[in-house]
Amino acid sequence: MDLDLIVRQARRRGDAAPCDIGIAGGAIVAVEPAIAGRAARAIDAGGRLVTPPLVNPHVHLDKARLGEVMRPNVSQTLPEAIEITWDFKRAYTEADIVERAGSVVEMGVREGALAVRAFADVDTVGRLMPVRGLLAARARYRHLVTMQVVAFPQEGILRDPGTEALLREAMALGADVVGGLPWYEMTDEDARRHVDIVFDIARERDADIHMLVDDTDDANSRSLEYLAVKTRREGYAGRVSASHCGALAAYNPTHAARVIGLVKEAGITIVSNPHISLVLAGRRDAEPVRRGITRVRELVRAGVNVASGQDDVDDPYYPFGRASQLEVALFMAHTAHLTYPDELETVFDMVTVNAARALRLPRYGLTPGDAGDLLVWDARTVKEALSRQRPPLHVVRAGAVVAQTTIRSELTAGIGHP
Ligand SMILES: [Zn+2]
Repeated sequence: MDLDLIVRQARRRGDAAPCDIGIAGGAIVAVEPAIAGRAARAIDAGGRLVTPPLVNPHVHLDKARLGEVMRPNVSQTLPEAIEITWDFKRAYTEADIVERAGSVVEMGVREGALAVRAFADVDTVGRLMPVRGLLAARARYRHLVTMQVVAFPQEGILRDPGTEALLREAMALGADVVGGLPWYEMTDEDARRHVDIVFDIARERDADIHMLVDDTDDANSRSLEYLAVKTRREGYAGRVSASHCGALAAYNPTHAARVIGLVKEAGITIVSNPHISLVLAGRRDAEPVRRGITRVRELVRAGVNVASGQDDVDDPYYPFGRASQLEVALFMAHTAHLTYPDELETVFDMVTVNAARALRLPRYGLTPGDAGDLLVWDARTVKEALSRQRPPLHVVRAGAVVAQTTIRSELTAGIGHP
């Protein structure tokens, strides 16, 4: 058979023995112990780990890299980060957003992320410019990455009058997902109204929903339970993601278990971003200081789909960020106490298959019929990949190699010769 690419001796997760993976016409067409056919290109994986691509389910590409030009976030708090962003939002241009977002997309592709859910602020400060910028970036990088643009009301909907209409305009322009920020409204009643408005717009467009929920240590923040009940009532199982949900960690155990049960029944994905929660949450705690992430272990144990994202790359919220979902998984292992062998597989799921489920990516996997997208790691196991933190050796998109990494290092001092 005529193939575009054969990856020989690939070790898929869970397989006892390596196999050959054949790609033609942009899709995987054969997975066999040894493919006899020829291909335009062959990669010898040599028994190394081969996985589907990394998926980043939450990143603010419109704000990325503002850290290079902004004033410092002196209080290192969320409210000051939001204020700093206002100055820039008023001055954004489409070209500026495309350039900053594009640099993060390219960085992410080199790290193996071939799908991202990118949040664009929609509010009366920057109006629709962030959406226009990310839609332009989505078009420019279509060959490299599957980008879903979220129309995200960063200043609230009811506390920023005019935003509801702008959200509708953003969806009409071509945004993929309706965002939300219910906990940021002034009252519980407004938070519920916020959730209702987001569902109205999502229904009008038959779009999925991704809200940032209860991003606080405050146990009084209770948007998640309403979101879960609403999702069930609307029959939106599998189409709603909720990021952060830090307040869930502050609830008493009985109430937390009840909310986790509602989330599971509703079929909501929880996206927890450990870098950012570690830095922004627990700022007012006296010792012992909380870790800031939601109840990840309990959610996983309850069978909730949990994914993990980069969230921020050098912006008012966070000074670092390599767009490496492998690093995100490593942070999650530390932050959520997920370090036993099967738990390392769980954190890797959070940046691959679980995130792909949240984005409802079609044909995600390494069996015939799946998309011809894969990563060849410089590691034999997930544990080794997590430990080494090296980018994939080869990043393959639709059967074409789109990024490669070579790392060379040597000890130049001989042993015993100081
Ligand atoms: Zn975020």
